[in-house]
Amino acid sequence: MFKLLVLLICVYASAAYGDIDYDHILKQADNLKTSAPKQSNDLLESIDKTQLSKEQKDLYSLIIANNFFTFGKPNKAKKSTLQLLEEAPEISIKIRALTQLITFYITINEWPNAIHTTKSLQQELSLASQLDSTIREQAEFKIFDFYNQIGEYQHAKKLGVELISKATNTKVRCLIETNLLNSHMETTPEQISPGDFYHVQSLCQAIKDPMLDNIVNAYFAKYYLIIKQPSEALEVLNNNLDYVKTTGYQALIASFYELMATAYLAKKDYLHAEKYAKIVLDTQQQHQYDPSITAAYKVMSEVTKQAKNFEQALYYYQAYSNAKQLNLDQENAKLLALQKAEFDDAEKSVKIALLDKENALLKTQALLDSTAAQNKRLALALLSIVLIVFVLWTYKNRRNYLRMQHYAQTDELTGIANRHYFTQQANTAIKYCKRTDQAVSFIMFDLDYFKRINDSYGHKAGDVALKIAVDAVKLACRKNDILGRLGGEEFGILLPGCANHLASFIAEKCRKAIELADFTYSGHDLDVTASFGIADSSNCEYNFEKLFAGADFALYQSKDMGRNRVVQYQKEISNFDI
Ligand code: GH3
Ligand code: MG
Ligand code: MG
Repeated sequence: MFKLLVLLICVYASAAYGDIDYDHILKQADNLKTSAPKQSNDLLESIDKTQLSKEQKDLYSLIIANNFFTFGKPNKAKKSTLQLLEEAPEISIKIRALTQLITFYITINEWPNAIHTTKSLQQELSLASQLDSTIREQAEFKIFDFYNQIGEYQHAKKLGVELISKATNTKVRCLIETNLLNSHMETTPEQISPGDFYHVQSLCQAIKDPMLDNIVNAYFAKYYLIIKQPSEALEVLNNNLDYVKTTGYQALIASFYELMATAYLAKKDYLHAEKYAKIVLDTQQQHQYDPSITAAYKVMSEVTKQAKNFEQALYYYQAYSNAKQLNLDQENAKLLALQKAEFDDAEKSVKIALLDKENALLKTQALLDSTAAQNKRLALALLSIVLIVFVLWTYKNRRNYLRMQHYAQTDELTGIANRHYFTQQANTAIKYCKRTDQAVSFIMFDLDYFKRINDSYGHKAGDVALKIAVDAVKLACRKNDILGRLGGEEFGILLPGCANHLASFIAEKCRKAIELADFTYSGHDLDVTASFGIADSSNCEYNFEKLFAGADFALYQSKDMGRNRVVQYQKEISNFDI
């Protein structure tokens, strides 16, 4: 009390000089809120709220909301905290606000909200990387406490054990140990001994927090009542009654009175039982659903029954029954809320799974699309390659074909048509001339004494001579005349649209061309001549074989007549039967 007075004096003194350390005052108010809530509130009331920064204002709201709760105004506490959360406070205030909001919801039995807020807190904690370890531990404790409250003891125990292994804050350790002891007491009281309470008491006493000390005391007394030792329970309660009153925490004080009433009843001290039960009922009317009320009604019903005041006994019994029903309703509401939350979670995870599947489908679709596009491109590329290869192949084939055709049709040495091709072309030309009613002539010539050239100058010189002779004839012929090598040094010229006179003229021209050609390219000054025989369509018809035979006959005559001359086939003088 003295400390607070000094602080308040400081506040007012500072205010007088306009230099107030609000951070310091708020910190003090924060520290005192559970151990001395009244003093904490006095400090807050001394502050001019308009002078505070946003952060300071948020902390102020957080503490004052907690004090509302301590003074039995959980709804007001809830409203203020929700309002604070809407102001988007910084993360540590937000975590603390969510933490205390869970306590408020539990107290006023708003289970769906309690569950929802616990989940929000868990999420915020997982996201907050740089958080004061005490704030984190207190928040984690609240989550543990919440699971304890809704009867999820296994999960709570797991969280509690985890938390106790890492908790550095003694207050958090004390709270967890107390809660673990309580859940033990609810489930397996035979496994607990008073020593366990002494251990927790000494741990919590180190914090010097009357509220914590008395929570442990209340549990201790409850334990004695469970193991049917009401005198020991009363000893703990009576010894600490004044102490608990200093906390100003109505719910805790009520639970002391309720436990005392129950203990006295167990000892059949009806007078005291009635006294304390009535205190609970008088002070706790606002907490319709408080378990203390239920217990107090029960005590009153027993007490009045003992006093044979049956009318009163019935009244209290009905009140007890109603309160119990309300408690049961609350328990059911708790269970329902829990089931709904679980259902919501399951629904959410089904939705998430569905979304995941949808996502996977979309991804597969996209993959397929891109694969399809890729395949299309690949197919196009392949098709292009195939096309190019095909075109190249066709082109190469065509070239090969043309080359082969050229080889097949051409005489390699002279470059003119070979006998086979010449015959083909000659036949086509003859047919055409016949169809178009044009004359056609055929000249055959054979180089004279060629064997001698070979023999005298060599085969090579003979080859060159053959080539020079052909080139000379080519120049002497017309553009459309067909020249071919019939074999050895024997050649044929088919002259379409050419009657015998013109044929004689061309043959003569060719003969002269050979005679006058320059054969020195053979390396020798050769005298090369050729003998010519001519046949035409007028006497050999449009028939290649007949023309050939006629010309050959004339050629034979030319040789016979002394060579190097042109002889026209005359059917009349020929003995040759063509
Ligand atoms: P002629 O025709 O005037 O009666 O006398 P010839 O010596 O020309 O007699 P023949 O026609 O029987 O002989 C043809 C010769 O032509 C025989 C052969 O050695 C030669 N000969 C044929 N083809 C070629 C060839 O491609 N190259 C060379 N160098 N000689 C050839
Ligand atoms: Mg010859
Ligand atoms: Mg010959």
